[in-house]
Formats: sequence, C-alpha cells, structure tokens
Amino acid sequence: MQKSSSESKDFLRSIVEEDLKSGKYNEVHTRFPPEPNGFPHIGHAKSICINFGIANDYNGLCNLRMDDTNPTTEDTQYVEALKDAVEWLGFDWEGNVRYTSDKFDELYNYAIELIKMGKAYVDSASEEEIRENRGTVTEAGKRSKYAERSVEENLELFERMKRGEFKDGTHILRAKIDMSANNMKMRDPLLYRIRNVEHYRTGDAWHIYPMYDFAHCLTDYMEGITHSICTLEFENNRAIYDWVLETLGLTEKRPYQHEFARLGINYTVMSKRKLLELVNEGKVNGWDDPRLPTIAGYKRRGYTPESILNFCDGIGIAKANSMVDVAQLEFSIRDDLNTKVPRVLAVLDPLKVTIINYEGSEEIDAPYYPHDVPKVGSRKIPFSKEIYIERDDFMENPPKGYFRLTPEQSVRLRHAYIITCNEVIKDADGKIVEIKAEYHANSKSGEDTSGIKVKSAIQWVDAKEARKVEVRVYDRLFKDEAPEGLEDINPNSLQVIKDALIEPAVITEKPDERFQFERQGYFYADPVDYTDEKPVFNKIVGLKDSWGKKTKADKPVVKAQPKKVQIDGEVVAMTEAEQALFDKYTSELKLNSEVANTLARDAKLSSFYEEALAELNSPVVLANMVSNEVARELKEKQIDELKFSAKQIAELIKMVDDATISNKIAKQLFEEMVKTGENPKAIVEAKGLVQISDPVVIAPIIDEIIAKNPDNVEKFKAGNTKLLGFFVGQVLKATKGKGNPKVVNELVGKILNQ
Ligand code: ATP
Ligand code: MG
Repeated sequence: MQKSSSESKDFLRSIVEEDLKSGKYNEVHTRFPPEPNGFPHIGHAKSICINFGIANDYNGLCNLRMDDTNPTTEDTQYVEALKDAVEWLGFDWEGNVRYTSDKFDELYNYAIELIKMGKAYVDSASEEEIRENRGTVTEAGKRSKYAERSVEENLELFERMKRGEFKDGTHILRAKIDMSANNMKMRDPLLYRIRNVEHYRTGDAWHIYPMYDFAHCLTDYMEGITHSICTLEFENNRAIYDWVLETLGLTEKRPYQHEFARLGINYTVMSKRKLLELVNEGKVNGWDDPRLPTIAGYKRRGYTPESILNFCDGIGIAKANSMVDVAQLEFSIRDDLNTKVPRVLAVLDPLKVTIINYEGSEEIDAPYYPHDVPKVGSRKIPFSKEIYIERDDFMENPPKGYFRLTPEQSVRLRHAYIITCNEVIKDADGKIVEIKAEYHANSKSGEDTSGIKVKSAIQWVDAKEARKVEVRVYDRLFKDEAPEGLEDINPNSLQVIKDALIEPAVITEKPDERFQFERQGYFYADPVDYTDEKPVFNKIVGLKDSWGKKTKADKPVVKAQPKKVQIDGEVVAMTEAEQALFDKYTSELKLNSEVANTLARDAKLSSFYEEALAELNSPVVLANMVSNEVARELKEKQIDELKFSAKQIAELIKMVDDATISNKIAKQLFEEMVKTGENPKAIVEAKGLVQISDPVVIAPIIDEIIAKNPDNVEKFKAGNTKLLGFFVGQVLKATKGKGNPKVVNELVGKILNQ
C-alpha cells in the first residue's frame, strides 16, 4: 500500500520514508494518544487518520494510548468513546489499548534516576513564586532556592510526596535544565505534581502524577514508538522531549516528535473543554448530539466513516494552522451518500390531495437508485385516491416562475401520474386544508402518452399506507463563523417535525439505514430512538450547500430582473432563460435539482452539456460528469481552451453506459484527457482499462480477499452483513477499480453466502 506518487505525499510521510530508507528504524510505529477527558471530535479524527494511516501505509503499527495522567478530569466513559471512534473509522490498534497510567511505576523510577543524577529537584516554592521566577521572553528566570537541595533530601521528599504526606501544590518535582534558556519551556519544567484525588484506574494508589512533558516522551519510548506525531502547540515542548530521553540515556531507536497543524472548522467549537460546557449546560442533548463535531455526534447523525476519512484526506496535512470550511465536510458526506443510498419519497409538511377521478388502488414499481448508482433494487409504492404532497408544492397565487402545482398548472407525482388541481378547500381561517384534483390515466411515468407538459415532479405519499415519522432537522450549532462561546449559539439549530409521512417500504423493507428523501436531503434512521412503531430520522445533510446562499437571500432581493426558483426548499434567483433550462433539465431530462441548477446557471456548462447530449442520449450520467469534472476545468478556462471536446466526453460516457469501463476508471480517463487531449477509446486500449465483468476473472480475486480476512468472514457469517461492503471495496481495490461493481457485488454476496 506504499504511496508511490511523490506529489501526493505529505511532509510526515516523507520523514517516515526517509527514516525507513536510512535504516533509522526497521518498522514505523506511531500512536494516537488522547487524554480520556472528553469525547473525541473531528480534530481527533484527523489525528487518527494521520497516525493509523501512516502505520497502514508503511506496514507499521499504531498504538491507541490513553494519556491519562490527570486524575481530576478523566473517566472510563471517555475511554470507551475513544475506542469506539477509532473502530468506527475502521482502524485497528496494535495489541491492547495502552494506558500511561499502566506505566506509573516505570515513570516514577525514571524520575528517581533523574534526581540521583542531580537533574531533578523538589521545589517547595508556591505556584505564584514559580511563575514569577520564570522570567519573560526577554528576561532570564531565577532558579528557586530549593534547587540546591541534596540528592538525599530530594529523594526523601519525592518519596513522601508519593505517599501522600503533603497537600496539593505544596511541592513539585522539576527538571534542572536552564533558567535562562530562550525557549521558556526549558526553564526547569515541572515533572510531577501532587494530586490527592482518586484516579479512575489506579484509585488512590498514587498521590503524585507525571506531567505531559515527562510522561509522553518516556511512554513513547517504552512502547517502542518511532514517530511521535502531535499538533503544533507542542513545538516548544520538543526540546523537553529530547532532553528527558537524552539525559536518561534512552537514545537507542528512540522516538522523535513531529508537529502538524491542528484542524479547525468554522461554525463550531472544538476544544473538549468547550464541548463539555455545551453538554453540561444542556445546550445539546449529550455528547452524541448530531449537531456536535464529535465523532459520536457525526455517527449518530448518519455520517459515514468513509466520508470523514475522505474529508481528512482531502484537507491534507499542513504545517500552519488554518480554518477549514464546514461546507467541505458537508460536501464529502453528500458526495459519499450520492453514490450509495436509496432514493425514497417522504413528505415533511403534508397537504392532503383527493384525486376525484381515481378509484381503487395500485402499486407502482419504482427503482431505489438512479442510473448512475451501481446498485439495483426497487420497491412498490402504493397509490390511491387520497395522497399527501408537500404543502410547499402547491400555491394558489404563485409568483411567475413557480413550477409546481397551482390551480392553472399541472404537476407530475414522482414515479406516478400527472395531476391537475380542480378545487382548493380552506378552513375557516383561510388555511388550505385540501386539494381536489384529477389524475390523467395515460400519463403514468415511463408510459406517458398524455402529451401534457409539466414543469416539475414532486414527492407524495399514499394517505392510507404512508407511515408517520419524526424527522429531526439540524442546522449549524453556532451562527457565528468563529464562535467565542455559548452566546453565539444558533437558537434554531434543531427543528423536530413530528408528523412527517413516508412511503411504507422504507419501514417494512429497510433497504438501508440512510436514504435520500427526494428533493429534501439525506436522512438516517436514528440509531437510538428509531423503532418501527415510532420511526425517527435525522437529517444528515441537504442536497446542496444552502448556507452561503441563505444568508444572501436574507438580504432584500432586488425585484427587477431575476426570478426565483425553489431548489430543495431554498429560493434561488434565476434569469428567465436559466429557468427554462432548469425546468427542462429537471422535468424532461430528470436531472436532480442540484445538478440542473449547476448546469442551467452557467452558460458555458449548459452549452457543453447540450453538445454532448446531442451525441449521446444519456442525460443523467452526462450531466453528472459535466457538472462535476468538466465544471472544474471550465472554472478558469473557455470551452475552446479545453483539450477535450463534448464529443469525447460523450464517447467516454458511452463506454460507461455499455459497461466497457467502470465509473471510477471513467474519472481516471477524464484526468488523462484533461492532460493529454487524447481520445478516450485510445487511452482505454493503450492502457488496458477495460472493465472486468467476467466472473471467471473476478471469483479468484474474491477468494483471495476472503482468505486474507478470516475474522471478517466469521463476523459476516455471524450476521454482520454490513461487512459485505468491506469485501466489495477490497475486491474493487484489488482490481484497481476495474472490476464491474455490479458483478462484484453479486458475486461477493454469492460466494460469502455459500
Ligand atoms: P482539545 O484541545 O480539543 O481538548 P487535546 O489536544 O487536548 O484537544 P488530546 O486528547 O490531548 O486532545 O489529543 C489527542 C491527540 O489528538 C493529540 O495528538 C492531539 O494533538 C490530537 N488533536 C487534538 N485536537 C486536534 C485537532 N483539532 N486537529 C488535529 N489533531 C488534534
Ligand atoms: Mg489536552
């Protein structure tokens, strides 16, 4: 798994490679060393990805170590949360979980050694005196008068500190280094302090606890760590790290510390202290509240481990601190789910529609997945005289450019018929309570001969058969981009919808746990509160980034030119021409509104798309390629500056359509076309990229993967069917992305179930 391309290597991997090459170490051994004083957050995920990722990449090892030297804040519930997070992200730690507290005896002995060498002393000055005597950046510090104590006196005092004879803060063990060092951390740093409290693991066995600077380097050394990777704020502590190991003569195959930049994300807080405050003050519902940036929160919200790994990978490893836009994380979950989850119909704010000319009932067959998702499966959607649509999807007096149901305008019910409104029924307050409509029997989706033109298709559910569900819609927890504290909390970060409705198959068939509710976003069956009797779904993320736009929409809209269109519940301004395109793309070509919006609003993109479409009638797959890959290229270039043409893109997609190549290879091919301008077919032939669909070729690869993973096979056979995805992924990887996902999927299932 060694990374081959040198461009994609980060500075930490470069260091590791050099150290392996020079023979400094035979094997890389990293560790992830959290303090169990809070739940891990996305910043920890970054550190987990780096430490475990490097070990994986270079066939090394990575320990999971609880850095538990502070008895007042640590707890086993945090230990469990940390183990959970690492496992959920898909990593295995080496051997048992390690605890710095398991090394308290050894650490104590090292301290004794330093005292005996005259390199450490017990200081009995007050905390305040110690601070005052440390000096400033421009002024040297003053060594404590207690530094002159004899070795014997130091040993005796340290022993008595250990036995619990002194109050907290009365004595402290310090290293004797240099009170005038430029690096202030080196001015006789603290090694041990008195804490007369119970430790969650060692109970009352100890009354002194080692400081980070003393314990960390030594524990690294004792565990055989080679690369001790930490965040930038420890840069100045590196000198102590080195001093302790060198002074004690622990230089053979010793570890070295390397620092990288902390991850920060906007619109949230990350420090465990601040997260703890949110939890303790009841601002959120526990550590796994889906609005928190904790791993437990993301997990509960429905994020996938893959999306978090991709995110961490994508932001890279930097040497300078910076802030990452939360939209990037949201993009990565959307991107992952887009290729994976079933599409279903749900109505969040139901409005009743009675179809006066329909009698009886029927079941409409509808696929769960769009064409470009390599998965198969379908369900039956019940349909009868009474249905519900989204309240938003009907307007009695619509503004111009409203494309859904109105008294004058028909609309398609997704996967079903076109309906026309006959009558609007209101209650005494004038609120619309029901629509009477008629359906057009010859307009059924897929066999429409009605000739009726509609401008959009909307979601709906059958009144009798739909299930009631609770939907929890989350917004950002803070309204401020760089929140200071509780005062910046977004008061509307949670909206609970009690009476949403969903098509029954979602509950009865459970094709998945995560879904795209069409036109609404991605949702996840809440892992704690969901039951079939009282289903609860969490909104994972919307279909597009709405935050930036929303704030713009808050400003007064100029009434003059642009019209507005609703995309996923959000108002977006469009010109008339753009609107016409958007309309055509969504209703005729069946593009999702996000993609349609991207294309319609960019003249370069839409003309490129139309040109490709003229070559190949594969609107959805073409649109995806144009709105993503091609869009990226057209950001800074004109069409005639591109090395590839619309015709070539059509050829590329044709190869995907007829299963010559996989989606993944298509993306690689595209990158090649961008660079060389060569014809896709020629590249496929030259490089032998033809997709492997032949079971005879694929089966042995599957056998090999199965043989390599006996544990997972056992878990799968014991009922953990989620591991199917693991095996499919491994096989696809082994074919370098050339395996036909559909064939691999089926074959893996078959072989595993034998
Ligand atoms: P916090 O300040 O959020 O409480 P911490 O640094 O005190 O975090 P630890 O439990 O000591 O948390 O950290 C465990 C490991 O995770 C350390 O190696 C630390 O450097 C790393 N880490 C913590 N926060 C981040 C972050 N935001 N980005 C990258 N790595 C982080
Ligand atoms: Mg810390």
